[in-house]
Amino acid sequence: MQKKYIPLAIFFVVLLVFLAHFGARLSLGVPAVTFAEEKTTEKEVYLTFDDGPSTKVTNRILDVLKEKNVKATFFIVSDRVSGRKEVLRRIAAEGHTLGVHSKSHKYSEIYASDKAFLSDVDACSNVIQSVTGVKPHVYRFPGGGLSHRKHFTPLVEAKGYRVVGWNAVCGDEEKQGASAEILTQTALKTAKGKQSVILLCHDSAHHMATAEALPRIIDGFLKDGYVFRAF
Ligand SMILES: [Zn+2]
Repeated sequence: MQKKYIPLAIFFVVLLVFLAHFGARLSLGVPAVTFAEEKTTEKEVYLTFDDGPSTKVTNRILDVLKEKNVKATFFIVSDRVSGRKEVLRRIAAEGHTLGVHSKSHKYSEIYASDKAFLSDVDACSNVIQSVTGVKPHVYRFPGGGLSHRKHFTPLVEAKGYRVVGWNAVCGDEEKQGASAEILTQTALKTAKGKQSVILLCHDSAHHMATAEALPRIIDGFLKDGYVFRAF
């Protein structure tokens, strides 16, 4: 290269560096829609039933779910499985999810110690597995207060369970003796405005009103544009 061209070459190198630097900054400054920012706008609802199985109520709930072609999640109390193994098998056979709730559902026993807690989880899980062949992967605390959850969550997660709470209720425990109409209203009201809903219901023996409310609850969510999911 001739000497007279050297300043020109330096000028172009500097220009290229300048453009590369500020060009990149400018492009970063432009608000862009990235794939990471795209969120699903689909509204989803997880129907969950705790404290079963029971004979009449769980079967009635299963009938409704079948008729509506909806899958749900059942958190099982394994001491209630005796004499109802067919109900448990039906839950699995019809494509619903079986989760661990408890063996005994007696808080003083479950939360007595880490060892007691884990043996309660294992006992329930073992019954579900031996009756249905399904290994549960979700867990719901029986009436566990926040301190219980905080303490015991790492233990149950270490066993491979996903802990599932709720953000809406049909009110079948809170409002004893409530009519199916009240339960329907409560479910839809407590879920209102939520994009992802986990609805807490119960299918133990005294919850026939929940089974009666279920068709209307499902229709209400469908009308609001929700899709149904199970864990
Ligand atoms: Zn419970």
